[in-house]
Amino acid sequence: MGSSIEEINRKLKAGDAVVLTAQEVRESLLKGDKSISREVDVVTTGTRGLMSGTFAVLSFPVASRGTFERAVSATINGVSAVVGPCPNERLGILDLIVLGHSMGGPERKYGAGHLFRDMVEEKKLLVEFTTNQGAELSSEVTINDMQTAKLVATRHAFRNYVALTNPGRESVKTIFHPSEFKPNMAELTFSGCGQLNPIQNDPQLKTIGFGTSILVNGAIGYVTGLGTRSSVQSPNLMMTADMKGMRADYMGGFATSAGPECSVSWAVPIPVIDDSIREAISKLDREIPMPIVDIKDRLPIGLADYGQVWDNVDLAVRVETNACENCRECDAEKKCPTEAIHFSGGVPSIDRKKCFNCGFCTTLCERKVFKGRLGEVNFSAFGSQWKVPVVCRQSDRVRALKIAGELKKRLLEGTFKLTEMLERLS
Ligand code: SF4
Ligand code: SF4
Repeated sequence: MGSSIEEINRKLKAGDAVVLTAQEVRESLLKGDKSISREVDVVTTGTRGLMSGTFAVLSFPVASRGTFERAVSATINGVSAVVGPCPNERLGILDLIVLGHSMGGPERKYGAGHLFRDMVEEKKLLVEFTTNQGAELSSEVTINDMQTAKLVATRHAFRNYVALTNPGRESVKTIFHPSEFKPNMAELTFSGCGQLNPIQNDPQLKTIGFGTSILVNGAIGYVTGLGTRSSVQSPNLMMTADMKGMRADYMGGFATSAGPECSVSWAVPIPVIDDSIREAISKLDREIPMPIVDIKDRLPIGLADYGQVWDNVDLAVRVETNACENCRECDAEKKCPTEAIHFSGGVPSIDRKKCFNCGFCTTLCERKVFKGRLGEVNFSAFGSQWKVPVVCRQSDRVRALKIAGELKKRLLEGTFKLTEMLERLS
């Protein structure tokens, strides 16, 4: 037996609904409260990760009508954009598509993810474009000048993802590591928020469908389909959301050794409508498989579980300022993928709004100024047992918890409504 979304919405309106985050459900279960999955009406789930398959659709005026015929190429803050699809002939307007992996220059440090965050922070953006008549023009805009600023996903929020290691003999440059991936299975990175992940709590997609409302970086968004490469075993989602309501600390750029990537946060409400959902919301991290794949061909070589990377670890890094020896060049400051490490008067600190909680800095400072347990992963591969340390998390559980908590609050105060899907995803 279960409740319909209509019934749950009535309970929400009357103030009688039980809304818990996916984390709160698991904490109750671990304390022995077996009835919690029967009592809860809505579970709020969340994830934040590096999400390739992101782009933005932008439209804004850059000149008065008739100033130029049409643009043929454009950049914003140096990040290349695709012009179109509408030519806006003689309208003085640019329609642009900015792909999530676009870079802002040869240093490969500033990319579309950084740009999207700067937009949401209402910073001034430099738009430079070339017309079909060869003129080179520029304009300064902010997001407030844009009639349209939509974030779109072609492949986000996988049910869960994988861990990666490099069994080869040589280092590899990859989007799955902030630096070169060391060889000989010396280290491991992973993606996936485990028990918090939206689809993990509704693997049959009974409540997540076309038109389901969600939170994306804090703004209302909508599921628009199954993502590319989606499969029954490993589903993922497409979405669109208005960038104008987004919040910067849920998003941003992340420098990898293969160029910048975008980070995006999702929160999805899961109405507990039947026993299959009750079963899914009871699964703990240690019961969720995490395949280990070879970075070279992305094929599985072993199997672990999300308990190994999320149980008994530190979700955020601590800074032991007294241990700092003020090296001539600080490796941690230089290599932090979000440029969150700063010095003031010789004292290091982390800008928590920029920090992705990846933990990579714990591996970069020999004096252990940056401290945090990232865990080790045990698995068998190639006929042997391996214990490989995690050196970078490509999912941020701190923000996943935060956005799931924000969705819970908004459901309870009535500023976010559960929607009936228009159609199931298949
Ligand atoms: S590497 Fe460590 S000890 Fe050296 S400056 Fe950076 S934080 Fe300080
Ligand atoms: S955990 Fe460390 S390396 Fe990672 S983003 Fe934060 S400060 Fe940078």
